[in-house]
Amino acid sequence: MADEGVLDDSCDARNEMVRDQIVARGIRDARVLAAIRSIPRERFVPASHRHLAHDDRALPIGGGQTVSQPFIVASMTERLRLEPDHTVLEIGTGSGYQAAVLARLVRHVHTVERLASLAESAGALLADIGVTNVSCHVGDGTCGWPDDAPYDRIIVTAGAPSIPSPLVDQLDVGGLLIIPVGDAKSQTLTLVEKRRSGTVERPLYACRFVKLIGVYGWSE
Ligand code: SAM
Repeated sequence: MADEGVLDDSCDARNEMVRDQIVARGIRDARVLAAIRSIPRERFVPASHRHLAHDDRALPIGGGQTVSQPFIVASMTERLRLEPDHTVLEIGTGSGYQAAVLARLVRHVHTVERLASLAESAGALLADIGVTNVSCHVGDGTCGWPDDAPYDRIIVTAGAPSIPSPLVDQLDVGGLLIIPVGDAKSQTLTLVEKRRSGTVERPLYACRFVKLIGVYGWSE
């Protein structure tokens, strides 16, 4: 777990964000709420957007990419039913915000980003705020990250045309994968459970993410 001393839950704006946007929309998992209260979201957005950091919206982070709306981060995190001993793979590091939230809840997070500049700044920021249990990797996350597989949970934070088969292969039996699946403009957030007998897919709700670009995703 990250160093408790560096992160704090004293920010009023963050507490209001959790109350008005996340609890108000039905997120109840106390561990997820505490994790979000403890992560300084304002550090994960460019200085020009810092005053909007706790608003109910996605924000630009450079390279044409975004950090997801707070509710989506909370909802995807809650749906994963994380346990403290889990190892999680995230595809789409972006700012590193979702990885920081996950890191508060599990043993280790591997996160993969295709844009090296984002991966580097996310890694530096996570170290700066004292999150020590995230490994940032640069690569095509549609191929997963085989070196550290299998994973207890996998979260994809970009929209895919279909579920990349390497991610299912790298998920442990009994594991959960959450991924937005659909066309370029709108997707359905989908929860995939891997059983011995195969996978079970459960559509959750409509969402809109930037494109997952790669061998098993959209072409550039
Ligand atoms: N989770 C991020 C955060 O907390 O800031 C937000 C992710 S942003 C919505 C989607 C990210 O997925 C972008 O940074 C984009 O570059 C990345 N991405 C798109 N295709 C990818 C791929 N094949 N492998 C890894 N990252 C990818």
